[in-house]
Amino acid sequence: VAITTTVYVTPQPIMEIVESVRQQSKNTTVIVGGPYLADLPKILDEAALAEHLEMLGADIYIFGAEGEETLVKVISALKLGEDYRHIDSIGYNTENGFKINRIVPEGNNLEDNMVDYSLFDKKDIGEFVTVRTAKSCPFACAFCGFPERAGKYKYLPVDYVEKELDAIRDIGGVTTITFIDDTFNVPKGRFKDMLRMMIKNDYQFRWNSYLRSDHVDDEALELMAASGCDGVFLGVESGSTDILVNMAKNSRPEHYRRVIKKCRELGIITYASVIIGFPGEDRRTVQESIDFLNEAKPDFFRAQVWYAGPITPIYKKGQDYDLSGQAFQWRHKTMDSMEAAYYVEKMFLCVTGSTWLPQNGFEPWSLYYLQRKGMTLSKIRSYLEYFNDGLKQKLLSKNSPDVGRVFY
Ligand code: SF4
Repeated sequence: VAITTTVYVTPQPIMEIVESVRQQSKNTTVIVGGPYLADLPKILDEAALAEHLEMLGADIYIFGAEGEETLVKVISALKLGEDYRHIDSIGYNTENGFKINRIVPEGNNLEDNMVDYSLFDKKDIGEFVTVRTAKSCPFACAFCGFPERAGKYKYLPVDYVEKELDAIRDIGGVTTITFIDDTFNVPKGRFKDMLRMMIKNDYQFRWNSYLRSDHVDDEALELMAASGCDGVFLGVESGSTDILVNMAKNSRPEHYRRVIKKCRELGIITYASVIIGFPGEDRRTVQESIDFLNEAKPDFFRAQVWYAGPITPIYKKGQDYDLSGQAFQWRHKTMDSMEAAYYVEKMFLCVTGSTWLPQNGFEPWSLYYLQRKGMTLSKIRSYLEYFNDGLKQKLLSKNSPDVGRVFY
């Protein structure tokens, strides 16, 4: 079993999955790779890295921004019963603990690594499919380690995306596609060409994606609706222009307001993700984010404590902000992580213009899943509002043992 780690910033989910595989099948070789693993050699020394791999509990680890080529070599060796320990970019267990081979960067072409859907049974594919049309990201938001981790930005030509979507249509039964590219709508011209291609082919599935609000005009939004867009994940990050400037984001609150309004008119769901506690954040800027959400009214939102990732651009400029600590425990000139956690709870309690979407088990993708299973959006929203009201009562009840630790 090969496990990737796309959205994990802590080891716990990986350990849980490895443990779950072990419970089902003790003798299965478990391989772990992906972004979480790619970061580890940059932030841990050799001894700490070996200890960390031991803790995660897998048999083989693959390091690097890509890893497809290494995974193929490892699987081929395992299938043929050959020794895999000479393969570059892997970590593996020995009698003396984990050994890590030299890490050699890969440069796999997207065109050469298309998914061959004919290898899978229709029932194994199911209704929901994720599609990647690009690698890495051309931006450099100061809180984000993705471009550094994922390497050079590359994207598939539209005709390759068309081939993949045709293959998905031919499976029969797929109702929903999630485009997992971090910047699906960049470059703008390619994005519109892709939408026109989807309209021309009249695919019957609905789709959702991330969306950069400063790179989309009304025409693109209308093409999105016409091509079956269900909803978009907006990395709003903050309603404060000062914080967006610190974050090196080009988007501004006015971009988000325009996109949210237009999406509402077109029936595209908007989900706004907000970060609390980025360097420069204080009571005033948090209030700006609360005001923004109450005025712009994205359908759904969540706020989360800033994750101080050691490979992010801002972390490297930490001394400018007196930054100490990392991950979810930090302090800088204007806030610390405990205060940020308090403000996240405050946002949960104070934002009335948008519905909080719980994390860890109910991400925005659940909105599309539940709709395909027959729930209307208004039913989902009222279900969530009842759930949130229950949590709010707990938070506001002085005697509740859950006060202050509902989210963390
Ligand atoms: S937050 Fe998104 S747009 Fe910004 S650098 Fe990261 S992946 Fe790119």
